[in-house]
Amino acid sequence: MLKDNFGRTFPYIRLSITDVCNFKCGYCLPNGYQIDKSDNRKFLHLDEIKRLARVFSKLGVQKIRITGGEPTVRKDFFEIIKFLKNESGIKKVAITTNGYHLDEKAKMLVDSGLDSINISIDSLDRNTFKNITGHDRLPEILRGIQFLQDLNFENIKINAVLLNTINSTEKDFDTWASFIKKNKLDFRYIELMRTGDNLDYFNKHHISSKIFKDYLEKNNWIYQTFGKDAGPSLNYINQEYKGKFGIIAPYSKDFCKTCNRLRITSRGDLRLCLFGNTGISIRHLLQKDDQIEELQDLILGQMKFKKESHYLELGETGLTKNLSTTGG
Ligand code: SAM
Ligand code: SF4
Repeated sequence: MLKDNFGRTFPYIRLSITDVCNFKCGYCLPNGYQIDKSDNRKFLHLDEIKRLARVFSKLGVQKIRITGGEPTVRKDFFEIIKFLKNESGIKKVAITTNGYHLDEKAKMLVDSGLDSINISIDSLDRNTFKNITGHDRLPEILRGIQFLQDLNFENIKINAVLLNTINSTEKDFDTWASFIKKNKLDFRYIELMRTGDNLDYFNKHHISSKIFKDYLEKNNWIYQTFGKDAGPSLNYINQEYKGKFGIIAPYSKDFCKTCNRLRITSRGDLRLCLFGNTGISIRHLLQKDDQIEELQDLILGQMKFKKESHYLELGETGLTKNLSTTGG
């Protein structure tokens, strides 16, 4: 099992399979995906992903989340999911997606064996959604969620970035509450994080998630505690609702204490922290099947460099220009 110097274990990896994205979220890629001409490395190909997954499985990883950019834009996306699910040794396979064409993909997603899906929807108001993402695609995403539910797909989470002056009024919270009253899924607000590229946007739209926490407490939502591998979301339940609410607050004091994940970028760098300055390439050891032991040793050796905290509160953003390269 992967373990760091602070007693944290890492049963979970997030793998970005592409930086490319078809949306233009204001806090992430406001001008859409731009090719980085200074970086001519290609995204990890399927054979490299296969070796990577097998190594992490041997190191005790039980869950992998495929993210991006937008992971579903890759032509071999379903092939990747099916391999991970059936042949990698990793038990749980999850994705994070912006829900592009989710209505068309719902059935294939279920058939691929996927265990859970996180869908990013920053607002249930069609115009606000369009203004944030640059795309008028909320209806197809909501249809996709309905299809997933009709196919009895259970593990659906919706994430929204909490944005001051855009989606953080009591009316917005009430709208989500009505939605999860009828829908058995988790809805979580993520606090906006500052990255290398989004300083102005951050200064304008960052707001503490306390505003949502206060709303939940005022409306009789009860904080639900979990075991130590549960990850960083604070979850709230209310018997009158089918779904749950959650808060992901990266700037909160104890956020890093429950860190249980490592990240791999789309070009094969191991990132010990979403915001850390630590990142080494492991790609050279993904080229042949007989490199597995060397790769295992390299990853194990890196664990001692994992820091206790991301130091975001000190304004650190590490190597992270925007979250499309590391997948959030
Ligand atoms: N394109 C997919 C999507 O949007 O779900 C996957 C990649 S995206 C980088 C993963 C998650 O990170 C999304 O929920 C997105 O809203 C969130 N995200 C991106 N930039 C962020 C930021 N600066 N602060 C907080 N969350 C952010
Ligand atoms: Fe694309 Fe996701 Fe970034 Fe939005 S948050 S621009 S959907 S990668």
